[in-house]
Amino acid sequence: MTIDGSGTALTTCVLAPNPSPMTLEGTNTWVIAAPGASSAVVIDPGPEDEGHLRRVVDRVTETGRRVAQILLTHGHSDHSAGARRLAALTGAPVRAADPAHRLGADGLTGGDVVTAAGCELRVIGTPGHSADSLSLLLPEDGALLTGDTVLGRGTTVIGGDGSLADYLRTLDAMKALADNASVRVLLPGHGPLVSDPSSTLAYYIDHRAERLAEVRAALAAGDRTAQEIVARVYHDVDPAVRPFAEWSVRAQLDYLATRGERESRLPGVPGQGLPGALAQALGVDDQHRPGRDVQPAAGGKVRERLVDRLPGRPHQLRKLLLRQVVVHLKALIRLLAEPLRQVEQRLGDSSGHVGKDEVRSHIVGAP
Ligand SMILES: [Zn+2]
Repeated sequence: MTIDGSGTALTTCVLAPNPSPMTLEGTNTWVIAAPGASSAVVIDPGPEDEGHLRRVVDRVTETGRRVAQILLTHGHSDHSAGARRLAALTGAPVRAADPAHRLGADGLTGGDVVTAAGCELRVIGTPGHSADSLSLLLPEDGALLTGDTVLGRGTTVIGGDGSLADYLRTLDAMKALADNASVRVLLPGHGPLVSDPSSTLAYYIDHRAERLAEVRAALAAGDRTAQEIVARVYHDVDPAVRPFAEWSVRAQLDYLATRGERESRLPGVPGQGLPGALAQALGVDDQHRPGRDVQPAAGGKVRERLVDRLPGRPHQLRKLLLRQVVVHLKALIRLLAEPLRQVEQRLGDSSGHVGKDEVRSHIVGAP
C-alpha cells in the first residue's frame, strides 16, 4: 500500500524521505484536522529535511488551515529533528514529554487531552521503546498514533533509554484498548497503518514472551554471558547481525535481573567498558556517561568518526541492522560488543558509501 497520503477520516500521512532499515519507508508525519476546522495538528515532523517540512506545511495550508500545534511521540531524531524548523515555518509550539524537545510552555504527559484542530487527542504514556514514548488516541477515528512503540511492519527494539518491563506493560495496555474496540487502527511512526491492532499486538506480546522463554532456557542450561546466550538462542542468525541480537539479549537480561530471576545484570560481560573501547577505537575522548544523556560535543565527535569508519555497502548495513530502529548513540555504543575494526570487517570491503547524512540520521540519531 502507499503510505504517503494514507490515513483515516481525520488523519493524513506525509512520508518523510528518510528510508532505511531502521525507519522502513521513512518517518510518518501525521497531519490531523477535523472537517471544517481552521487549524491542524502535526505529529512527529520527522528529520530536518526542508523539502519534507515544506510539504507538511503545504498539506495543511492548501486546505486553508494553519498548524496550531506540533506534538512528538518521543525524542528520537528521526521524529523530532525537524520540529524546530517546522515551528519556525508555522509559529506553532512543540509539545513533547521530554522538556529538552519542547518549544513553548506546554509539555505532553499521559492523561493530557489535547483539544485542537476540531479534534480531541488523548495522550497515553507508552514507555518502553524509549523512556519518553507516548501514544495519542484519536477517539473519533478509533485511531492510536503509536510512534515507534508499534511499527507498521516487523517489530521494534528497546532503545538505550528504554526498558523491556515498561514495554511489556505498554503492550498489554495497548492490547486492552484494541480488545475493547476503542482502537480500530494503529498509525505507526514507520510503515503502513495497522488495521488489525488486536492481532498485531498479540503478535508483539507473543514474540517477546518467546524470546524471554528462550533466554530463560539458555540461563537454565548454564549460559552466563550475553554472548553465550546469543550463540544458543540466535544460532541461526547471520553472524553479521549478532551484535543486534546481543543487544536484545542484554535488554532481556536486565529485565530478568529486575524481576529477581538473575543475581546481577551482566556478569562477566566485557561490554561494560564498551563506550570507552569504542571511543578508543575511534580515537576520541570518551565523555559518555551511563544513563540517557549523551554529551553533545563528544557525541558529535564520535559521530563524525563513525561516519568515516563505517563505509559499508548499504545492503550490508541493512542486514546488520536487522530492520530495526536504532536511533540512540548510547544504544549504538552498547551494541558494538567488539572493537570497531571487527565491525568494519563484518561489513566487508566497501564499494559505494552509505553517506554521512544517512549514517548520522539513521544510525546514530539524536545528538
Ligand atoms: Zn523512529
